[in-house]
Amino acid sequence: MPGWSVTRAFERGKDARATLNAAGSILGHLCRPANLPSANPTRSFWTHSSSNANPLAREGSYGPLTTDADICIIGSGITGISVAYHLAEAVGNQTIDLDVPLRVVILEARDFCGGATGRNGGHLTPHTFYSFAARQDKFGADEAIRSSALEEYTASSLVSIIERNGWSEDVDLVNGGNVRLLFTEDEERETRADFERAKHAGINLDNVQWLTRDEVQNTYGTPYSAVKLPGHNIWPLKLVTMLYQHAKQRTGERFDLRMHTHTPVTSITRSQSEGSNANLKYILSTSRGPISCLRVVHATNAYTSHLLPSLAGPDGIIPTRGQIIATRASVGKALIRTNSWSGNQGYEYWFPRPLGPGEERPLIVLGGGREASGPQFELYVDDDSGTNPVVGNELRDFLPTVFQGKFEHGTGPEMEWTGIMGYTTTGNPFVGPVFDFSTGEREDYERQYIAAGYTGHGMPRAFACAEIVVQMIVAELTGTQWSCPTWFPERYLTHNRLKHKN
Ligand SMILES: Cc1cc2nc3c(=O)[nH]c(=O)nc-3n(C[C@H](O)[C@H](O)[C@H](O)COP(=O)(O)OP(=O)(O)OC[C@H]3O[C@@H](n4cnc5c(N)ncnc54)[C@H](O)[C@@H]3O)c2cc1C
Repeated sequence: MPGWSVTRAFERGKDARATLNAAGSILGHLCRPANLPSANPTRSFWTHSSSNANPLAREGSYGPLTTDADICIIGSGITGISVAYHLAEAVGNQTIDLDVPLRVVILEARDFCGGATGRNGGHLTPHTFYSFAARQDKFGADEAIRSSALEEYTASSLVSIIERNGWSEDVDLVNGGNVRLLFTEDEERETRADFERAKHAGINLDNVQWLTRDEVQNTYGTPYSAVKLPGHNIWPLKLVTMLYQHAKQRTGERFDLRMHTHTPVTSITRSQSEGSNANLKYILSTSRGPISCLRVVHATNAYTSHLLPSLAGPDGIIPTRGQIIATRASVGKALIRTNSWSGNQGYEYWFPRPLGPGEERPLIVLGGGREASGPQFELYVDDDSGTNPVVGNELRDFLPTVFQGKFEHGTGPEMEWTGIMGYTTTGNPFVGPVFDFSTGEREDYERQYIAAGYTGHGMPRAFACAEIVVQMIVAELTGTQWSCPTWFPERYLTHNRLKHKN
């Protein structure tokens, strides 16, 4: 019976949450801005499991650098590429009608999609009711409902784009649902309370299934109760690749999209040149030379504070290292099934990859274990060039302990890697115009935008947060007023973050 180990992990998970809440007092001295992404990151399954896994890896890294643009997007993860995608759509469907092409440039420090998106757990599961009670108590019912609405909206938009364009096989989209194992009575009680509060607030939860211990044992072979939510698993890098290529195809008379990978932005300053619009421009200094532009979108997530130091520290975006292993089951697909999983209140998350040619036993992508890592739980760690052996041991033990007979103790993973998440103390990302977040001043940041800080849960949020930023840019370009959609949490908006400080 795996109980003791899992309960111990659960207790440590609670410690990790307490540490994050107390991040200000415990770790407040670590307010230095994040470093640039490390030059030699660990290799993830998504980016390096085959020689052609990342065909855009070095796109635009050779040859001349673009010197002038209308909009520079910094970062080529799901956020940055979604910004490019939504801009391309806005031009394509004539929401923006310009006489000259809108020139958009993406700047990426490492390989294409080399940050969290290329190193994550591959889950696209909207959390329609998890943490609902806490959100309702802290932010009110309307905001708690908007959190659910945003995640539903993001996931359903992405799935419908994938299906409409026939990309399901390209991106390994699996509609298997997500089973959350409830290891302790406390966890079950809290989860049921969230469910009841969300239902009472009017959220439709008809497609949520509660499973008894016996049902889980008989169906999945582990002795815990569980709750099953609709959800998908996916190859995130491939989705972002398809979104980029789709946007790139819009290049023509009205839209121009370029990307320069291996081009870290090291600073942003105002242009000192004379002439029309010249003094409105920003100069982005990069390792390959300067590029000037009128608008900047920060899609740098964990690394945001490198260029925006007022977002360093506990009130801003805290780099937090996550670790993943890809490990082989000791039984075949029929006993493993296709759904994704989470357990220990989401601290551990895993799913089986679809079988490749010649494979008989599924490869499982499992992340988590951070709660075993000691008092700082990998908070404020912005270096993904190595792994933490303590976290690695926790991950190696997890599946053989929870699913006895389906995984072998002592079997090493086929791949292991880390990635850096962007945490905020409330879990709310920052979306909208950039300010100096310590003074509230905007003048030095006019026409700069941000969408970042998803706290390890970006796949069902980033695409729609990018859409909000693009709506704001379109409103600015067309001289119209932006208004907040009913599906978007207003507390994410940067101007509200100044008043409430997170
Ligand atoms: C280990 C791990 C597991 C996760 N699992 C899941 C999951 O299963 N489901 C889920 O929903 N979420 C998960 N997440 C979180 C999710 O991956 C992120 O929320 C999401 O990918 C953030 O996307 P992004 O585009 O904002 O950031 P990123 O993907 O990190 O992209 C930011 C990019 O900016 C680049 N960059 C940074 N600074 C500069 C600069 N100065 N100049 C140029 N480029 C720069 C970086 O190199 C990077 O490529 C996980 C994250 C990690 C690390």
